Amino acid sequence: MSKTFTRAEVEAHTSEDSLWCIIDHRVYDLTDFLDAHPGGSVVLAQIAGKDATTDFYNLHRQEVLTKYRSLCIGTIANESPEVIEPTPTSLSPVPYAEPLWLRPGFKSPYYKESHWRLQKAIREFTTLHVKPEAQEKERDGSWISQGLIDKMAEANVLAMRLGPGKHLHGRTLLGGVVRGEEFDYLHDLIVAQEMVRTNARGFQDGNMAGMVISLTAVQNWLRHEPLRARVTEEVLSGKKKMCLAVTEAFAGSDVAGLRTTAKKTPDGKHYIVNGTKKWITNGMWSDYFVTACRTEKGFSVLLIPRDDGVETKQIKTSYSTAAGTAFVEYNDVKVPVENLLGEEHKGFTVIMSNFNHERFMMVCAVTRLSMTVVEECMKWCNQRIVFGKRLIEQPVMRQKLARMISLCESNQAWLESIAYQMCNMSYAEQSKHLGGPIGLLKSHITRSAGEIAEQAMNIFGGRGLTQSGMGQIIEMFHRTYKFDAILGGTEEILADLGVRQAFKGFPKAML
Ligand SMILES: Cc1cc2nc3c(=O)[nH]c(=O)nc-3n(C[C@H](O)[C@H](O)[C@H](O)COP(=O)(O)OP(=O)(O)OC[C@H]3O[C@@H](n4cnc5c(N)ncnc54)[C@H](O)[C@@H]3O)c2cc1C
Repeated sequence: MSKTFTRAEVEAHTSEDSLWCIIDHRVYDLTDFLDAHPGGSVVLAQIAGKDATTDFYNLHRQEVLTKYRSLCIGTIANESPEVIEPTPTSLSPVPYAEPLWLRPGFKSPYYKESHWRLQKAIREFTTLHVKPEAQEKERDGSWISQGLIDKMAEANVLAMRLGPGKHLHGRTLLGGVVRGEEFDYLHDLIVAQEMVRTNARGFQDGNMAGMVISLTAVQNWLRHEPLRARVTEEVLSGKKKMCLAVTEAFAGSDVAGLRTTAKKTPDGKHYIVNGTKKWITNGMWSDYFVTACRTEKGFSVLLIPRDDGVETKQIKTSYSTAAGTAFVEYNDVKVPVENLLGEEHKGFTVIMSNFNHERFMMVCAVTRLSMTVVEECMKWCNQRIVFGKRLIEQPVMRQKLARMISLCESNQAWLESIAYQMCNMSYAEQSKHLGGPIGLLKSHITRSAGEIAEQAMNIFGGRGLTQSGMGQIIEMFHRTYKFDAILGGTEEILADLGVRQAFKGFPKAML
């Protein structure tokens, strides 16, 4: 790569036996790439011997050059590359691409030194270890590897994803960038937002989302201390996997419609569980199922280990099967009474309070992914030339970007203010005060995501419908944003919940 050439030298290489071009002051030998070029060899013949920088960036992402780095044979003498190559920790220089607190010159009242350190470390971890596998699994639909789970367990990334709590005390988090005891909901937000930068919505859930939404319930509600400690250790060390199983064919939004039953044995030592669950994230490979069941006087939540009576079948959805979404059947499964979470017949409290963290995590993810979509649109508007002008020169494009940016900025600000409340409330206070606000926030953020997906698709045109190339993130987002609008409580149900909760606190006296 240290070799230098003159532009005249490059101009001499225009045949299929020796075809060179220049991109960003670098010289590429495309001779052996002619047959492999996804866009065909004719296009390469058109730029033979020329400076193809404008044509290249009109159609490709920088990652393509990184991928084909080996084709680069040198640079043009006395010229140097201008395109910025990102490092695993670098922040995007694109305006509005990063949350405001990470932008040079901006301040935030929320974030301290430990938040900055964590952000840098988790970005590096995600870029180096998670993203490559995420992209691969998203495409081929296979499940997360034990190797990656072990890596996340070792760095205590799995433990951090449950949010703050005693389970983090004494743990070394990502090599010690933050102490377990000081980890708060803003650290939690950072981990969630950085980990979705893999841009792979199916794998994002396949990456232990089941654990994130179910082990929290075990932490807060499983009273049998030795069992709680054992299960926590097994799961956080990556040896066992778990999921949350509430939804059934007759019980989605209306959880009270549950038909799965848990009947006590005559000696009172076990429950016998029978029934089915639908769309259970990570159910395909889970060892434990935190399951909502109908009991004699209400419903109850049980930690059910996989055994011969538990069967799982894959459900195909619009996102990658990497999520391991399952239909679960329980046939006479015998579960010890110690595995009860919370009080018998009062499972509703367990499920409802557990939803807060799940929804908070989803909000963090959607907001960040929406921001990435805006970044992609900004880059595309800057580089795509149509009718002889860059897209950004069209006022209509600037209007679209203005709306998308405004949605992201306001949503991130609302999210951070909720995270701050969570940092300053006990679990009980969060359950009491934040169910409604988090519901409203999630509902609003996924509606915003719908609008952003729509605008982004219009900005990208055909590429927004294409699973590879420049529009791949837009295609993925447009195809999958509805998952967040439905999972963990639908947009309508959560908007309704927010207003109903507000009216619970409405003054009794007429105003
Ligand atoms: C890929 C995927 C993964 C999932 N993962 C899990 C999991 O891990 N664990 C789990 O337990 N569940 C999981 N779910 C289930 C998910 O939580 C439910 O799909 C969701 O709660 C909605 O239930 P439903 O689909 O049965 O819709 P329904 O309850 O049948 O509702 C249908 C539509 O009617 C609307 N609606 C219903 N009632 C009202 C009302 N009163 N006012 C206005 N609108 C209303 C809803 O908003 C919805 O859009 C998953 C679902 C999917 C698709």
